[in-house]
Amino acid sequence: MMDATTLQSALLTRVTQLRQRLRDLGAKPCHEDRLLRGWSQVGSYDRAHSAADEFFPLAMRNALPAIEAELNGLARLHGEYPADDEGVARLLVELHDGQMVESVLLPRGGLCVSTQVGCAVGCVFCMSGRAGLQRQLGSAEIVAQVVLARKRRAVSKVVFMGMGEPAHNLDNVLEAIDLLGTQGNIGHKNLVLSTVGDLRVFERLSIEKVKPALALSLHSTDATLRTMLLPRAPQIAIDELVNRGENYARATGYPIQYQWTLLEGVNDSDDEVEGIARLLAGKYAVMNFIPFNAVDGLAYRRPSAEGIACMVSTLKQHGILAKVRDSAGQEIEGACGQLRARAVKATRTRSKPESVTPAKAGVQLIEQAGFPLLWE
Ligand code: SF4
Repeated sequence: MMDATTLQSALLTRVTQLRQRLRDLGAKPCHEDRLLRGWSQVGSYDRAHSAADEFFPLAMRNALPAIEAELNGLARLHGEYPADDEGVARLLVELHDGQMVESVLLPRGGLCVSTQVGCAVGCVFCMSGRAGLQRQLGSAEIVAQVVLARKRRAVSKVVFMGMGEPAHNLDNVLEAIDLLGTQGNIGHKNLVLSTVGDLRVFERLSIEKVKPALALSLHSTDATLRTMLLPRAPQIAIDELVNRGENYARATGYPIQYQWTLLEGVNDSDDEVEGIARLLAGKYAVMNFIPFNAVDGLAYRRPSAEGIACMVSTLKQHGILAKVRDSAGQEIEGACGQLRARAVKATRTRSKPESVTPAKAGVQLIEQAGFPLLWE
């Protein structure tokens, strides 16, 4: 059973719940926006100034310390794992109920956030999906990861590519995107929603005020192989997925960024390259190849550098822009979801969390001209 403090915190895990709490305290939309702007941008409203204090209704002012304490408890830093000199660092983030997720600080103001604890898709090459879905993150918990990062440094790009499948938590993800793209002061093209492909994403994005850029995880052009690699992804014909992506790209002016984790002998064949060339011919798209990073207990390997270069060059001859994400390191603890798995294991076997030691993150980075960093 949750104690009173936990119960109170749980009430503010969504932005809509926070707005309702403020309304109950007599706040008008302008007061809500001021507080949300200050929170998401880290302190642009200053309670020390009397003008700000007087701006809010008295009941809201009186409740601010408790509300701020709740917001601060949504996402706490459990550990930081620096990766390199470019500002890449993986953050292990503890949520209000003790669950853990990962965020990644990327170069040039980028941040990758998690949207779920665990993941139900179960991609065979991913640690995050191995234990299934533990729980959804509320929209305020997603924004709280940005706030946590902004307390460390500026954040101007947010990619929704961490732990979890955003399409499986769409209400919360879109609520977070809306806040970040308005009060949070992040350009819409610098918000990147990554999905394995779900018709609900395309339907909802078409009516959203804040339209993020879209990244689609493809990983194969062969439907049977794709189902094997992404066992619980929605069953959408690959042609339809690409066509819907193309429509969204043309409507927004942001190219679709396709993601393809490269597994030697699995999805690096000539047939796959031909399939990509056929699928993406004339499309407003970028293919991002992500050579597989070692994961405990998985036998997959990345293809050779020569093989990958050959794939990129063949696609280039077909007029397809393909990029390879440079690896910033290959240490075991750096791969997606492994920090959390390690921390969960540690908290099960000892009373205190394990102390943090630096480790390089297995972060793959790419930046298209003017477009956000991607990460997986
Ligand atoms: S790669 Fe993404 S969608 Fe697949 S299991 Fe991992 S977190 Fe889920």
